[in-house]
Amino acid sequence: MNEANQICGAERRVVALCGGVGGAKLAFGLQKVLGSKLHVVINMADDFEHLGLHVSPDLDTLLYTLGELNDRQRGWGRAGESWNFMEALGQIGGETWFALGDRDLALHVERTRRLANGESLTQIAADVAKHFGIAAHLWPVTDDPIRTIVITPEEELAFQRYFVARRCEPAVRAIRFDCAEKARLAKGVEDVLQPEGLRMIVICPSNPFLSIDPLLAVPGLREALRAAGAPVVAVSPLIAGQAVKGPTRKIMDELGIQATTATIAAHYQGLIDGLIVDAGDLPDGIGLDISVQAVPTLMTDDESKTRLAQDVLAFGDRLARKADEGR
Ligand code: GDP
Repeated sequence: MNEANQICGAERRVVALCGGVGGAKLAFGLQKVLGSKLHVVINMADDFEHLGLHVSPDLDTLLYTLGELNDRQRGWGRAGESWNFMEALGQIGGETWFALGDRDLALHVERTRRLANGESLTQIAADVAKHFGIAAHLWPVTDDPIRTIVITPEEELAFQRYFVARRCEPAVRAIRFDCAEKARLAKGVEDVLQPEGLRMIVICPSNPFLSIDPLLAVPGLREALRAAGAPVVAVSPLIAGQAVKGPTRKIMDELGIQATTATIAAHYQGLIDGLIVDAGDLPDGIGLDISVQAVPTLMTDDESKTRLAQDVLAFGDRLARKADEGR
């Protein structure tokens, strides 16, 4: 390995923890900078069985986004999608609350077939990523089932019933991750978190409660992050106390947690060495023993995604140097 590359970290891998659409924006920027040195560990607790098919919403968001196949206008799913299947299903009285485009359907059908043949989500994700020409490595956090349950005042809702069917309207009292205690960290995830050749770990600006917590609920992941010996940097999903999209702010209000960068930092306490907050969000008052860096974090186009990725990497490298100097 070239010594200059080794010093600036260009030859070493970066592991990003990621949920769906918000996290995928930063993963896209990181892939632009890092190519195959990027390893994305993905939340699988949004998965569900629907119409007899295994649907993996966060994994598929990553596959479409990193494969540049995603619909940027709609903000989810594939570009150039058609909806013949949904129309035909509605015509015969089938369940249409969860929209499955025709192209998207192909992925669910093929994944379900391969799972039934005994293949793992890890293998299937790697193959599809290859077919889509994705440079980064995509790692489902576990190959075992784990399911987010949202507890509302009236009832317990499976995640997609809350998120899609009920449009996040019910108040959230608590969130549970069923089967988490039995889920095993996927072998690939264990391997990429080994200290050798690891540059840093990035927690993408995904929803901390619905996207990152279910990852951390898989036994062994927290321990592996701590043992990795590399800086862990999180990016706040809040800008001026608001979520860019989705229910993060609403959930924080409902759970009685102030929507500030300080509470995001506190949520990841003991896990992160540094937090990136938006340039407009003064890092005062975080009050924890972590470094804070304020940079523009709103990702609206390829340039802003790549710029934030570069800022995150430079911050992580600075933290690593500081840690080395302190040794
Ligand atoms: P989901 O699983 O599809 O809901 O997506 P994620 O959990 O990965 O991301 C949702 C979070 O991403 C929300 O809390 C948003 O505030 C955050 N988010 C989306 N776009 C941006 C952005 O451009 N900048 C920052 N800082 N956060 C963002």
